[in-house]
Amino acid sequence: MTLAPRDDLALMAGYHSPQVDVAVRLNTNEAPEAPPAEFTRQLAEALATIEWHRYPDRGYRTLREAIGKHHGVAPEQVFAANGSNEVLQTLLLTYGGAGRHAAVFEPTYALHNHIARITGTGVAVGERSDDFTLELGEVRRVLAAHEPEITFLCSPNNPTGMAEPEETVGAVADMAPGIVVVDEAYGQFAPWSALGLVDERWGVVVTRTFSKTWSMAGARLGYLVGPAWLVAELDKVVLPYHLDVVKQLAGTLALSFTDEMRARVAALVEERGRVSAALAGRPVDVWRSDANFVLFRPREQDGAAVWRALLDRSVLVRNCAGWPRLDGCLRVTIGTPAENDAFLAALAEALS
Ligand code: PMP
Repeated sequence: MTLAPRDDLALMAGYHSPQVDVAVRLNTNEAPEAPPAEFTRQLAEALATIEWHRYPDRGYRTLREAIGKHHGVAPEQVFAANGSNEVLQTLLLTYGGAGRHAAVFEPTYALHNHIARITGTGVAVGERSDDFTLELGEVRRVLAAHEPEITFLCSPNNPTGMAEPEETVGAVADMAPGIVVVDEAYGQFAPWSALGLVDERWGVVVTRTFSKTWSMAGARLGYLVGPAWLVAELDKVVLPYHLDVVKQLAGTLALSFTDEMRARVAALVEERGRVSAALAGRPVDVWRSDANFVLFRPREQDGAAVWRALLDRSVLVRNCAGWPRLDGCLRVTIGTPAENDAFLAALAEALS
């Protein structure tokens, strides 16, 4: 038999980033290197002590404390889940749902809109300006029209790359009628963080992930820092024991390698500068990036054709060419220097 899904899901396309076997994979903004060898060694040692027949610590106290300490906040202000996507889903399950709204400003991370709709939350769509910055007049218009329970910002914004200015995030937090989610999946690559805006008096939350800086996309771990009253509500909604014991150990351990990870971020930021400068010397439009990826648009060729030509040379980047407002655009993740060289060489051929 077949059974139709919920009416409001029936016309939805899934979210896909092709996982193709290529030599140079620069399409999903992962860290280009595995975690430090010492991390893997210590994790293996810790795994040997696991009581596999017991449920994990439901409140993941050790991990919560480690994340809290890392950011100088109380453990009660930390909520973690299986990737920051599950953090976003839990926020939407708790504060969205039927008859409620989430505001997004396009183009932005597609999953804000997608997860909102899966949770039955109405989506109020605002538009970024032509240069992809966020204009406060547009924010005011969308907030007044829909009074959203949740307003999503993404800083740095995926896929365009720029961090929101601090004044913009502060102004949106001032005017929003509900919760303001600042998605900082790429926050470590940016010049400032909205973490300093988190306060018990209002609903600003900042989401982060172990998938990028911490080289742990395979582990699926993300978190938010927000007011304790909000975290207490999320704790009631998320499934019991949602964070498995391995993830709790891995996340806690990762945070003791902060210096190594900072050095890696610094190296990626330097490579970002090199790749951006090289792109600027080609017949492509390039947007400034505060993240570990760069958005660009071939000026003389069709973006999708360039994407295909790169793939023919075993270089996979993200094809945004068909996305609204991003006609002909491609997004490249910053990889190792060798991967970036391979990308730039393949691009030179693809454009010639
Ligand atoms: N937010 C943004 C802006 C992202 O780009 C991503 C990853 N593509 C995520 C959240 C989700 O990351 P994860 O679920 O791996 O933590």
